[in-house]
Amino acid sequence: MTVSKMYSLPALPYDYAALAPALSEEQLRLHHNKHHQAYVNGANAVLEKLDNARKGNIDLDMKSMLKELAFHLGGNRMHTMFWENMAPAGKGGGGAPEGKLGEMIVDEYGSFERFKKEFTQAANSTEGSGWAALTLCLGTMRPLIMQVEKHGVNTYPFKIIMVLDVWEHAYYVDYRNDRAKYVENFWNVVNWDTVNKRLFEALKK
Ligand code: MN
Repeated sequence: MTVSKMYSLPALPYDYAALAPALSEEQLRLHHNKHHQAYVNGANAVLEKLDNARKGNIDLDMKSMLKELAFHLGGNRMHTMFWENMAPAGKGGGGAPEGKLGEMIVDEYGSFERFKKEFTQAANSTEGSGWAALTLCLGTMRPLIMQVEKHGVNTYPFKIIMVLDVWEHAYYVDYRNDRAKYVENFWNVVNWDTVNKRLFEALKK
């Protein structure tokens, strides 16, 4: 079996129109097909430069190469997680977490409502381009909320289990500058099953 040594854009686990009205078909298509694709292309371009430089024994500016590679790979990873932790409202999306995740959230935050409030505040106050993320701290095994700058490649020892993209490109077509409305509607499409599965994987390590 040959393994591709380049990255490719993963297909969405639902149709482009499936998350409306939280995210319109146009917004989701642009975000996946243009923005996410650009991170995939960017990562591949750096890998190609590295391959060619090695073949021709050419020196590269490694600092800028690696920074660019990490940025694009971070973008690819975060977007892939984002698509997976959403589902159409009422068909896997929305509601409240059950099982272990539900228990851990109530343990940490007192209630799901309190968690939702804190996560919403984190998403609304993320400066510049970034993400709000629910993580599992591998040191304390507590489910902690984080604000991630750009694509956050430096999140150790936090295992990310849920993300919300708050870069402007994630909501501007549908919401213009009203990020708060976008964040409010995100709760209707959270796929808690996926988040629970990620929690389960993280707890095993
Ligand atoms: Mn994005």
